[in-house]
Amino acid sequence: MGNLVLHLDSIQKSFGGLRALVNVNLHVEEGKTHAIIGPNGAGKSTLLNVCVGRLKPDSGTVTFDRQELTGKKPHEIAQIGVARVFQTPEIFQDLSLLENVMIPALAKRDGSFRLSFYQGIRNQNEIRDEAEQILEDVGLQEHLDQNAGSLSRGDKRRLELGMCLILHPRLLLLDEPTAGMSRHDTNRTIDLLKQIKEGGMTKIIIEHDMHVVFSLADKVSVLARGKIIASGLPGDVREDPVVKEAYLGGAHE
Ligand code: ADP
Ligand code: MG
Repeated sequence: MGNLVLHLDSIQKSFGGLRALVNVNLHVEEGKTHAIIGPNGAGKSTLLNVCVGRLKPDSGTVTFDRQELTGKKPHEIAQIGVARVFQTPEIFQDLSLLENVMIPALAKRDGSFRLSFYQGIRNQNEIRDEAEQILEDVGLQEHLDQNAGSLSRGDKRRLELGMCLILHPRLLLLDEPTAGMSRHDTNRTIDLLKQIKEGGMTKIIIEHDMHVVFSLADKVSVLARGKIIASGLPGDVREDPVVKEAYLGGAHE
C-alpha cells in the first residue's frame, strides 16, 4: 500500500431530516484514481462539496497531505492544491476559452484578481502560453477566442477541466466529468485523464458510466443512501452481491 494522502473520517452531513452522509470513511492513496459510484441522491456530490469547503460537515474531518481541510474556506483549500470539476459546469459564459483558462491561474496568485501592474503583464504572458497549451491538451485549441457560452455541454466540461489543470492541483475531484458527452468525447476524456495520471496527481471521480470507471479507477467505493457499502478493487466491487443489489441492479437510473 502506498502513501495514503486523503482521509475522510466519520463524515456526517444532514439536510434537515435527510441524512445525506452517514459516518463516511474514505482513505485515498497518493497518485491513484478512486471512483465513487452510487445511485442518484446517494450523497456523492455532497461528499465532494464537503472536501472542497462548500459544505461544512456536521461532524468528521477531511485531511489532505496532513492538513485538515474541514473548516477552511474554499479558496484556502484551493491554495492547498485541491481543484474540482463541478457537476454543473461553472465557467464564464461571456468570456473566451482562453480567458476562462487564464482566470483561475491569475486569481490563484494572491487569492484575488488584483495584480500589480508590471508583475501582472509579465506573468500574464506566461499564463497565456500555458493556457493555450492546456486548451490543446483538452482538445479545444481551435476555439481559443470563442465565447465559452457557445460550447456544447461536453466541451464545457473539458473547458472546466482545463481551468482546473492550470492550477496544477495535487488533488483533483471530478463530479461526473463525462456527463452529457458523446461516446467519442467520453473516450477522449478518458485518455486525457489517463495522461494526467502520470503526473502523480490524486483523483476522485464520481461517475455513472461504468466504462469510464473501469477504464480509470484503481479503487472503487460505492455510496448508497449516504453510506459507503463497499470499497475495493474495481473487479471485486463489481462482483459484490451487496453492490449489485443496491446499485447495479434496479437502482441505477
Ligand atoms: P448524488 O450526487 O449522489 O446524486 P447529492 O449529494 O447531490 O447526491 O444529494 C444527496 C441527497 O442530499 C439528496 O437527497 C439531495 O436531494 C440532498 N441534498 C443535496 N444538497 C442539498 C441541499 N443543499 N439542501 C437540501 N438537500 C440537499
Ligand atoms: Mg451528484
